[in-house]
Amino acid sequence: MKLYELTAYELSERLASKETSAVEVAQAFIDRIDSTEDQLHSFMLTTPEVALEQAKAVDEARAAGEELGPLAGVPIAHKDLLCTRGIQTTCGSKILEGFRPPYDADVVIKCREAGMSMVGKTNMDEFAMGSSTENSAYQITRNPWDLDCVPGGSSGGSAAAVTAGQAPIALGTDTGGSIRQPASLCGITGLKPTYGRVSRYGVVAYASSLDQVGPLTRDVRDAAMIMSVIAGSVPSDATSADIAVPDYLAEIEGDVSGLRAGVPSQLIGEGIEPEVRDCVLAAVKQYEEMGITCEEVEMPNIDYSLPVYYLIATAEAASNLARYDGVRYGHRTDRAVDDIYDLFAKSRGEGFGPEVRLRIMLGTFALSAGYYDAYYLKAQKVRTLIVQDFENAFADHDFLISPTSPTVAFKVGEKADDPLQMKLADICTIPINLAGIAGLNVPCGFVDDLPVGMQLMGRPFEEDVLLRVGHAYQQATDWHTKRPAM
Ligand code: GLN
Repeated sequence: MKLYELTAYELSERLASKETSAVEVAQAFIDRIDSTEDQLHSFMLTTPEVALEQAKAVDEARAAGEELGPLAGVPIAHKDLLCTRGIQTTCGSKILEGFRPPYDADVVIKCREAGMSMVGKTNMDEFAMGSSTENSAYQITRNPWDLDCVPGGSSGGSAAAVTAGQAPIALGTDTGGSIRQPASLCGITGLKPTYGRVSRYGVVAYASSLDQVGPLTRDVRDAAMIMSVIAGSVPSDATSADIAVPDYLAEIEGDVSGLRAGVPSQLIGEGIEPEVRDCVLAAVKQYEEMGITCEEVEMPNIDYSLPVYYLIATAEAASNLARYDGVRYGHRTDRAVDDIYDLFAKSRGEGFGPEVRLRIMLGTFALSAGYYDAYYLKAQKVRTLIVQDFENAFADHDFLISPTSPTVAFKVGEKADDPLQMKLADICTIPINLAGIAGLNVPCGFVDDLPVGMQLMGRPFEEDVLLRVGHAYQQATDWHTKRPAM
């Protein structure tokens, strides 16, 4: 096995036993990026010099007998909306081209303090708006399973990087499915933690009541390891929850028999490709064989998730993105302007891509006087009903199971001109963000040689339960060990 083919857990064992050095590991991933990036375009920017410097420091610390965390010397890639001090952070947008943040995101600091080597910043849909990474203002990332297909989005660069062995772990963000859906389309593991589990400080905001940072990894064990690094409350993010962080790696080994699972009928019927449904139902059967009781549950309000999401998310985005005015920061127009308002309009018109402009207009409309009650307020009320659907389902189920994406990876360009089809890609993942709970994608089969993923949903702050049931499934199956030929 080559170093870039190993999981983070396997790398950490070899590093701890000094079978390999952190510099060797970093170099192996840098070389792998060099030999595959032409085809994939996973990275917005690579940082080999940073990775090697961090790896060297870890090797020196280990040689000096210092106590190191388990992920010290393991490489990581960061989605390009996580602020990295002095290193360009574009959020996939021309409006932030050349922006070098003066500080690091909390999660970037935590990974660095854990001794992880940063190999680069990954490509994404502009401002995390999209499901295919085609909305990046810079490049389209390809799916390592089929270069004609999208990797999903918006964390498509992170998903492709982990799938192709360009990094053992990548961080992404998930506002409506942006970790789980690309993980599903690429056949890897992806966790959207509970809202508040991980700090959002230094994460470029899309929709602040929905955004959450989480990992994309080769398996559940690696997700448990990195969650122990990034989870926990911090004073810099008032919405990060002061709730004890379990030892996730220790928790994954627990027994799962006797647990009760629900399968929401609304997420397994209409709109899901039959072959995808069959893979997920086979996984449900597998869980039954492990002693978990599984039954269908009715969650009638989640049928309204998509319209609710596109009112709330666009409203929040319109407000968050008001800061890019070409004055305080962001692209500024070179054209002649009449006044300050003209400067704002021209700068923003040039800097934002079409999807972002569309969403700012939709959100502004939803928030405008006279329409606020009819749209935004109503959407908030339905959101509460969706939260209640989950509370009811979790009253007698420990976790829920559904497909993650209704289809396998689609071709580049196939849905680009069909906004409704593109938005339906998130039909199973969006309800989880609206409810603020945790969701985990686990690979569970193949259709036409492309990976299928199932989504496991858990009670708030019960990531440990989700990771345990995900790990138990991966102990019993080998879907997560399959790798594309490239
Ligand atoms: N695809 C959804 C959207 O376009 C979700 C994206 C996300 O989770 N950031 O908004």
